[in-house]
Amino acid sequence: MKLRLIVLLSVALGLVSGAFLYSLLSVKRQEKAVAAARAQGRADAEKAMADELAALKPAVMKKVANAEGKADGVHFAYEYVAPKTAELEPFYKLAHDGDLLRHLPEIKAIDGMLMLPRPIKFVMAECREPNAFYSPERAEVVMCYETMKVLLERGQQLAADQDLGDDYAQKYLAANLRFILLHETGHALIDMLEIPITGREEDAVDQLATTLMQRFAGINESSRQVSDNLRMASNWFLARSTGQYNLDAYADEHALGEQRYFNLQCLVYGSNPSRYLGIVTDGDLPAARAKACPAEARRVDKAWLRLLLPHVAPKYEMTEEKANRLFEQRERERNRNTELPYVR
Ligand SMILES: [Zn+2]
Repeated sequence: MKLRLIVLLSVALGLVSGAFLYSLLSVKRQEKAVAAARAQGRADAEKAMADELAALKPAVMKKVANAEGKADGVHFAYEYVAPKTAELEPFYKLAHDGDLLRHLPEIKAIDGMLMLPRPIKFVMAECREPNAFYSPERAEVVMCYETMKVLLERGQQLAADQDLGDDYAQKYLAANLRFILLHETGHALIDMLEIPITGREEDAVDQLATTLMQRFAGINESSRQVSDNLRMASNWFLARSTGQYNLDAYADEHALGEQRYFNLQCLVYGSNPSRYLGIVTDGDLPAARAKACPAEARRVDKAWLRLLLPHVAPKYEMTEEKANRLFEQRERERNRNTELPYVR
C-alpha cells in the first residue's frame, strides 16, 4: 500500500516538474519569439524610414546666372551624439546611420543659402526628456532622441486606432521631425539675423516652419504629401493637450495646443482653399476662422519671404518676384506628382 503511494507520488512529482520545465522552456521560447519580432519590427521601421528619406529629393535653389566668384552662404553643421540609455540606441542608429539631418529637404534647401554670423549646428542627442530647443550661446538646434521615441509611439498609436497602415508611424515621425526642427531653426534665424517680428515669437516660428514645408518640400513629394505632413504636425499639437489648462498654460509663451492646431490648419487651408475645402467641411477648421485664412496664409508667406530675402547669400540672390516665380514652378511640379482623385 505504502509502496503504491510512493510510486504514485513520485509519478505525480515527475509530471509536475516535467510540466514546470516545459512551461519554463515555452516561456523562454516565447521571450525569444518576442525579441525576434521586436528586432524584425525595428529593422522594418529602420528600412521604411531609410526608404522614405532616400525618396526625398530636396528642392535645391538655383544659383544666379553669374554665380561664379559670388559669396556662398554659411553652411550648417551636423552632429549625432551617441545616447547613454540603451532604449534610445535604435533612434541614434536611425538618425546617425541614415544621416537623417542632411536628408531633411527643407533643412537641405536652406543650408548654405543665408549669410549667418556663425554656422547653425544641428545636434541630435539624449536629453533625459522629450524636447527640442535652440541654444543661442552654442548656436545649436537640438533634437532629443526621446522626442523621436514619443513621436514614433504616437504615430503607432494613431495607426493602430485608425487603421492607417504600416508606414504611417514612420511618416508621422518624419513629418514632425521636419516641423519641429524648422520651428527651432526659426528661433535660431530670429536670434542670429536679428529678424524683426512682432507678436509671439512662438507663433512666428510655427508660421516659418509651415512656410518652409510648403515652399521647400522635396520636388518628388506631391502637394498632397506636403499638406499631409503639415496636418500630422498639427495633430502633434493636439496630442500633448489635455484640454485642461491652468494659469501657467495661459501665461506660457506658446499658444495653447488647440490654438496652434487651428492656426496650422488655417495656413494649410488658406494656401489653396478649393483644394483643402475638406479641412472645413470635415470640421477641422470652423468656417468663421476659415474665411480669413487665404489672406492670412498669403500674408505669412510674403512676410517671411521679405524678412529672409535680405539675408540670402549673393550666390543665390533674387528678387521677391523671382522667388515667387520659382515657388510657383515648384508648386506646379508638385501638383503634377499628386495623384488624380479618380481612376481612368
Ligand atoms: Zn519654440
